[in-house]
Amino acid sequence: MAKISINLKEGKTLKESDLIIGIDLGTTNSLVAYIKEGNPIAVKGTDGKNTLVPSVIHFGKDEQLIIGDAAKEKLITQPQNTIYSVKRLMGKSYGDLKNQEHYFGYKIIDEDTDSLVKIRVRDKYYTPIELSAEILKALKVRIEEELNQIVSKAVITVPAYFNDAQRQATRDAGKLAGLDVLRIVNEPTAASLAYGLNIEKNDAQTIAVYDLGGGTFDISILEIQDGIFEVLSTNGDTFLGGDDFDRAIMDIWIKQYNIDSSQMSKNKEFSQEIRLLAEEAKKVLGHSETFESTLNGLSVKITLKEFNDLIAPLVDKTLESCKNALKDAKLKPENIDHIIMVGGSTRVPLVKKSVSKLFEKEVFDGLNPDEVVALGAAIQADILAGNQKDILLLDVTPLSLGIETVGGLMDTIIPRNSKVPSRAGRQYTTSVDGQKNLKIAVFQGERDLVENNRKLGEFILRDIPPMPAGLPKIEIHFILNADGILKVRAKELRSNVETSVEIKSTYGISEEDMARMLLESIQNAEEDMKIRGLLEARNEADNIILSSDKFLKQNDHILSEEEKTTIISLTNTLKDSVKGKDKDLINKRMEELNEYTSPLAHRALDINIKEAMTGKKI
Ligand code: ADP
Ligand code: MG
Repeated sequence: MAKISINLKEGKTLKESDLIIGIDLGTTNSLVAYIKEGNPIAVKGTDGKNTLVPSVIHFGKDEQLIIGDAAKEKLITQPQNTIYSVKRLMGKSYGDLKNQEHYFGYKIIDEDTDSLVKIRVRDKYYTPIELSAEILKALKVRIEEELNQIVSKAVITVPAYFNDAQRQATRDAGKLAGLDVLRIVNEPTAASLAYGLNIEKNDAQTIAVYDLGGGTFDISILEIQDGIFEVLSTNGDTFLGGDDFDRAIMDIWIKQYNIDSSQMSKNKEFSQEIRLLAEEAKKVLGHSETFESTLNGLSVKITLKEFNDLIAPLVDKTLESCKNALKDAKLKPENIDHIIMVGGSTRVPLVKKSVSKLFEKEVFDGLNPDEVVALGAAIQADILAGNQKDILLLDVTPLSLGIETVGGLMDTIIPRNSKVPSRAGRQYTTSVDGQKNLKIAVFQGERDLVENNRKLGEFILRDIPPMPAGLPKIEIHFILNADGILKVRAKELRSNVETSVEIKSTYGISEEDMARMLLESIQNAEEDMKIRGLLEARNEADNIILSSDKFLKQNDHILSEEEKTTIISLTNTLKDSVKGKDKDLINKRMEELNEYTSPLAHRALDINIKEAMTGKKI
């Protein structure tokens, strides 16, 4: 593979480094690590204090961004401008988040569609990718300041259960932050690497990774042989973590000391204080039998025994997940060779004791549990850099492979640096009623618009039976073999119509061309993302305009004249905005139209159901 050096900050005298860094992009905290003199270390901020960067983004005045500790301080006082847990939104559609909106203190635009979520801050709309990129940028700056060098290659970790869309979103965030993401690694795999479990090359080993963070719990069961990891099962709870321990302490104090909780919601500083004090109590109880302090002149107290009783049901829930993960992997506790503790909340003694008891053995907790994933990512980076001589490097594909979607956008199916041979697929649908033929154009490259990538070929899937737009299920499947031959198959799953082609993906392209394409993709990442945002907004708006026209036609008899005129006028203003280039304006108008029509749609549904019922004769 070509050695590619990228200098993003031309003109700066900083030297560019060949180093590949490891990043743990967490729900609660993120951090960056690298190999220094043979050992992985996590990088501290310039204050030399903390390796953890809270994954929080605050939008100050004039959209000035604050990331990390300073942003975390704004969580309670300015919730609508302070974004946390953005990882929960990566690669998610509105539909995926049903019934979860109450969790977020900021505004998630909830349209009932398949489109990806956006977050509104004041009058602007952001994607989770853009927001995650800000956290990654902060980490990039942190390590560049530490090394006095420009760093632009990274390995980023994700949960083992992340799907294709979530992994791709994480890659895109990296690109937007000016990073060439060489590999996306599973968090439990990284943790196992940090404990050196890839090095013993004898028999297969089975490992359980127990990861209890701030707001999420994951248990993963892995098998590792000859340095190759396989995920046997995953389980967990996406709304269970150390924050719940803090809340349990808070609740009991509020009860014990008769704190007026209606007062708390008004006095945000006070509720911030009590939350922080509860977290402190939790940490102190890791090495002490009691915690005592004062809160606004009131003395508060909690003992370890009381704390353990409070959290026991929560810990039990995690053990249930562990049992389910074992069951799915068809294993018993005694089949697990090692248990690794990951996440800040595994410092709680009751957690450690309970997990150890369930698996009937000592747990691995020698490394700092909130750094272990980043340390493992740094080791994976070092392996990729070819620095670990006894570890075999697998062949990878040098450029991403994908197809063109609406608006000329590139949709990656096999990402760059995937191991070869490799196979992947994704489902698409039609955008026009009764569409019979579908053109599939295959491209190679990293840019968001296909016109900037390399076209490998195109073919047509013919004779799809006529169906309304959105109904056909067209699966596009890529199989890439070790010689770079790409087989693309398109199949409509309802009718089984299919076609396929074979393309030689490496034909006529030199290493220099590939290097140039990669460099350009990172240099243009921000501009490309803007265009993508605009095209996606337009596309979504077109769909909404179509359905609002349909809605008007179908429900003419149900709607009042005033309602009809309002819908028409809102649709027209949306149409106008689609002609322009202001993505935020399009989003705003879509939101306005949706807010107006969704109660009407509910009413129409009710009436239509009633009519259907009364029409039915038994
Ligand atoms: P994530 O992986 O979700 O980003 P982390 O692994 O950084 O999260 O875990 C954050 C959680 O760990 C927080 O709830 C924090 O209070 C908790 N935590 C950190 N240190 C300790 C400690 N010493 N004792 C108990 N809990 C801790
Ligand atoms: Mg984590």
